[in-house]
Amino acid sequence: MTNDSASLETLLAQVRPGVRGIHPYEPGRPIEDVVRTLGLDPGTEIHKLASNENLLGPSPAAITAVRDAAAELHRYPDGGGTALLEALSGRLGIGPDHLALTHGSNEGIELLGHLFLTPGTNLVMGDPAFVVYRLVAALFDAEAIRVPLRDFTHDLKAMAAAVTDRTRLVFVANPNNPTGTRVGDEEIEALLDAVPDHVAAVLDEAYYEVMPMDNRPNSLRFVREGRPVIVLRTFSKGYGLAGLRIGYAVAPPPIVELFHRVRQPFNVNAAAQAGALAALNDTGFLDQTRVLVEQGRATLEAGFRQLGLPFVPSVANFILVRVGDGRALFERLQQRGFIVRPMDGYGMPDYVRVTVGTAPQNERFLTALEACLA
Ligand SMILES: *Cc1c(COP(=O)(O)O)cnc(C)c1O
Repeated sequence: MTNDSASLETLLAQVRPGVRGIHPYEPGRPIEDVVRTLGLDPGTEIHKLASNENLLGPSPAAITAVRDAAAELHRYPDGGGTALLEALSGRLGIGPDHLALTHGSNEGIELLGHLFLTPGTNLVMGDPAFVVYRLVAALFDAEAIRVPLRDFTHDLKAMAAAVTDRTRLVFVANPNNPTGTRVGDEEIEALLDAVPDHVAAVLDEAYYEVMPMDNRPNSLRFVREGRPVIVLRTFSKGYGLAGLRIGYAVAPPPIVELFHRVRQPFNVNAAAQAGALAALNDTGFLDQTRVLVEQGRATLEAGFRQLGLPFVPSVANFILVRVGDGRALFERLQQRGFIVRPMDGYGMPDYVRVTVGTAPQNERFLTALEACLA
């Protein structure tokens, strides 16, 4: 080994082919970062409506639980996540052997890659849909077969038709990110009936808790029936705990057992387990969140109509809206203290995605939007 740059070049040439093609996930910009690069006063009020976080903040019960957990941080967490799994089991009405905790649902997606993806295999996903599916395919040198949405909604018939002998996973984000649309239980059942036995369906329900009560998927039924279905949920959105990184997978016990083989022994840290358990039991906060999202969505939609901006009706806590040059509007909104998500990276340069905020934030956002469009 020599100590010149040539030896590093040689090493870098050994990196797995799939990894070479990956562009790192582009997260919404942190508020401090925006303040700094725009040269704004450090105290300037910035509203981040770019990452579909809960704008109510975390559940107050979760804050207290995390604070209490801090006194025990010298200890390893419960690697089995016993207390949280028991509570989830009770809440969902499914045995704890059907549940695996994950470091955010992003880890659940990656663990599925560990289990099923090898070079030459593929996964099927919508286009546009959550980009992490694509990143995980690349990570395992597998292919991502992208099936165009229809009317901004997953086209499950086309996705079933795209399945090949080499397909291992079909990902359905329900509701989808970035469009906010959902598919019905009957359509999912038809997809499950249509795909061959060597394929698992992954139902990513990151927004389940913010969906209207009477319009939520009943996908746990498929898991109870023992179908090859993995439901992914998260504490990042409705529960307001994106910073803690915790989610869970619901799947038939043999698949859960495989998750435990490939996950790290302590993949979910102690603070996350404590915070999630408290948030799970804080049903008042969840109700408040759901109402905030429903009312905020109505406010934003009415505002978009008034401004003559077409939008995609959403059942999640964000809305995709057509604004002309999305990147340019993103820049202009930033100057006024609002961060939204431009969609050029998703092949939709005319759109931005806006997270539903608090009532005052939504009103002020619409005012800023009108000024930026003028
Ligand atoms: C936000 C989001 C997630 C959540 O990921 P975490 O790792 O749990 O924070 C997963 N899937 C979709 C479609 C999302 O939009």
